[in-house]
Amino acid sequence: MDLGLKGRWALVCAASRGLGRGCAEALVSEGVNVVITARGESDLLSTAAALKGLNPAAEVKTVVGDIATEQGRADALAACPQVDILVNNAGGPPPGDFRDWDREQWLAALEANMLAPIALIKATVDGMAARGFGRVVNITSGAVKAPIDTLGLSNGARSGLTGFVAGVARQPRLAGANVTINNLLPGAFDTDRLRKNMAGAAARSGEPLGDLTAKRRAAIPAQRFGTAAEFGAICAMLCSAHAGYLTGQNILLDGGSYPGTF
Ligand code: NAP
Repeated sequence: MDLGLKGRWALVCAASRGLGRGCAEALVSEGVNVVITARGESDLLSTAAALKGLNPAAEVKTVVGDIATEQGRADALAACPQVDILVNNAGGPPPGDFRDWDREQWLAALEANMLAPIALIKATVDGMAARGFGRVVNITSGAVKAPIDTLGLSNGARSGLTGFVAGVARQPRLAGANVTINNLLPGAFDTDRLRKNMAGAAARSGEPLGDLTAKRRAAIPAQRFGTAAEFGAICAMLCSAHAGYLTGQNILLDGGSYPGTF
């Protein structure tokens, strides 16, 4: 199926590795021009080269910066001729015990995982509505539906974003102008973040990393971790020209881990 996205411009935040990169790859493969961001320059440049290799006809721009800061967002927006598609993403907050978190750690989580995507939505959706097409995909977490106690900073900040999106996506001036806003909720995906979290858990528990990883995999009905490529494919589908009637939704990609009927 042609997703009807050729020639569109996407701003894909936090996209030098992992799920953000998977989204950029899928969009570029569909003929979308992208601006990708990350804080580290070298991974960002090698990802940009790989994206150009996937589709030499697509334009690929890079912006080095922290998307959780005003400057990082301003630079990212300035690099994108027009934002037709916005993929909101940033690194996740560290795990821990809420007793150890101070105000500064809470503010950092809120900045990265709630206020940054809200600021980018604010900066882009009215322009999308004026042009009659817009797609916003926020990468959140399965922890929004099934909280993980050690990820309290993530549970809290992302739930705030989810509540905001639930309201704004349903504004007739957006939904009625073919602007959709949806959240993609990853379960366990094989990325640097997952590997780092697993290594941390192994170090804390003393259990060998291989055993812990095998147990985690076996607990997923699909019996495996997801891949960034399959995450990106669902993101591209949500961004497609055909998905204009799908808005305000939380779409869980977790290999069947969430145990509820709905
Ligand atoms: P990852 O493999 O660690 O990749 C993170 C990417 O984001 C890198 O390109 C990183 O590059 C960039 N980045 C991080 N913070 C940034 C910032 N403040 N500004 C700009 N770029 C930034 O992580 P991932 O697994 O793809 O996870 C993506 C998101 O999904 C995270 O919020 C994570 O918590 C969430 N999530 C992931 C999983 C999973 O299983 N993987 C599950 C649930 C939720 P630089 O470091 O160079 O900036």
